[in-house]
Amino acid sequence: MVFLPENIFAKIIAGELPCEKVYEDELVFAFRDIAPKAQTHVLICPKQAIVTARDVTLETVPVLGHLYWAAKQIADELDLEGYKLHMNVGEAGGQVVPHVHLHLLSSDYESVL
Ligand code: 5GP
Repeated sequence: MVFLPENIFAKIIAGELPCEKVYEDELVFAFRDIAPKAQTHVLICPKQAIVTARDVTLETVPVLGHLYWAAKQIADELDLEGYKLHMNVGEAGGQVVPHVHLHLLSSDYESVL
């Protein structure tokens, strides 16, 4: 796996690249994963360009918490009974896109990401 130099999620959030949007509020933007590992696989991103969860500071930590709030809204909206929330942190942690994102997977997920 290669940590991409380009932040494609920033371009999706800015509307410069297409996506299947499922949720948006003032802090968060969420869209369906292009290569889903479950029937429902949503990526939940802060609008603020934070590279990894390790780059979060005391000032930006509420943004990270907001990802979990958005996950609840999406799970309720999609009527998911149970789900998995997963985050890869850094290249060695399996993160490919250099913009913090939470994976929301329905309970039929195929594999650990
Ligand atoms: P990571 O490994 O960084 O935690 O997860 C990146 C995720 O982004 C992968 O599950 C991958 O399928 C998804 N992805 C990569 N490029 C795109 C894209 O252009 N559009 C969408 N919707 N998902 C993408």
